[in-house]
Amino acid sequence: MFSEYVRKMEERISSLNFNTASVEKILEKAKFGEKLSFEELGNLLSVDPEKEVDLFTEILNTSRQMKEKIFKDKVFPIVPVYVSSFCREHCKYCNYRIENKDKMIKRIRLTFDQLQKEIEYLVMKKGLKVVELVYGSDPKIIPEIPDHIRLAHKILDKVGGGMVAINVEPFTVEEYRILKATGLDFVVLWQETYQQEYYKQLHPDETPKANFNYRVDDFERMIEAGIKNLGLGVLSGLAPWRKDWLSLMEHERYLFDNYEIRTSIVGILRLKPAAGALIQSTPFVPSDKEFLLAVAVHNIFSPRTLPFINTREKFDLCIHLAKGGGALFTFNCSTIPGGYVLGEDGYQFPTYDFDVNEYLPKLQSKGLTPIFNWNFEKNHIPTIRY
Ligand code: SF4
Repeated sequence: MFSEYVRKMEERISSLNFNTASVEKILEKAKFGEKLSFEELGNLLSVDPEKEVDLFTEILNTSRQMKEKIFKDKVFPIVPVYVSSFCREHCKYCNYRIENKDKMIKRIRLTFDQLQKEIEYLVMKKGLKVVELVYGSDPKIIPEIPDHIRLAHKILDKVGGGMVAINVEPFTVEEYRILKATGLDFVVLWQETYQQEYYKQLHPDETPKANFNYRVDDFERMIEAGIKNLGLGVLSGLAPWRKDWLSLMEHERYLFDNYEIRTSIVGILRLKPAAGALIQSTPFVPSDKEFLLAVAVHNIFSPRTLPFINTREKFDLCIHLAKGGGALFTFNCSTIPGGYVLGEDGYQFPTYDFDVNEYLPKLQSKGLTPIFNWNFEKNHIPTIRY
């Protein structure tokens, strides 16, 4: 399991001497489809976008070219549907943490009918066909997830079908098998940080999420259950971001080497202040340029993986992150259960809302082409089937 390797990986990162002298050679290697080593990826991440402008630009250009070659500027729409804001966890950076009793966090657990209204609105009225069901760590609603997946598929089937993903908490192999049998298409789960000393501080107490090893090994349980499309990611800014991105890529390489599963989606979240969070910011939050660098290096490492572009970021930055295509693009984002049609409030974190009607033409005017009926299984994108 990957958890057995994490300590060694940390030691390897600490022992590396990164330098940017060889960046051009590394980029040439990548363009010819050669695999990049741990150290080479670290060297790319070490570029200072402010001081090494030419190298930074070269990395962005290489990322764009590699993406363009495969995806030809196509992006893949997705929409989150928050189902529950109840949570037993203590994550210090989140509004939904259990100790947050602020009145603005109205805890909501959608009923089946309410969830139906939310999904119908996004699918029927907005034309979105890939739905990410998002939950706090809420044991009361977990048994209902199979019904939610079936419900979402039933609605999507009325418009020719689509995909349903979950973003919840780690499960057992058996639980994943059940979810897969009900029609689960893919799973995203963010590790937050791979650096254990930070992870421990950010997730205090003895809650399930405090168990770093169980979380980091979750992908291997998904794979054992037969789930092939996985989303891994870090929340940039919780800990030194270069180390986290390097660890993330090493985790992806481990999964590919051991299971021949290439990561389908990479979560590219960046810490943003949420009113009820204990941590509003840290010295580790990457700047816009550093964030672009991290995502570009990942694109060079694994061009077929889709960065999950989300509305924590401004539209202009999202466009830069999507250069060349081959990215998920979030439309109509609400991080509130019932935030679309039920008029609820109490967000997990503040987001922009790129309404599909308004932002589709804007996206197209930037040269990007959204493919609404994309599907991992139907080969609508030249990825995923390896
Ligand atoms: S990050 Fe997730 S698990 Fe942690 S408090 Fe927020 S909703 Fe709960």
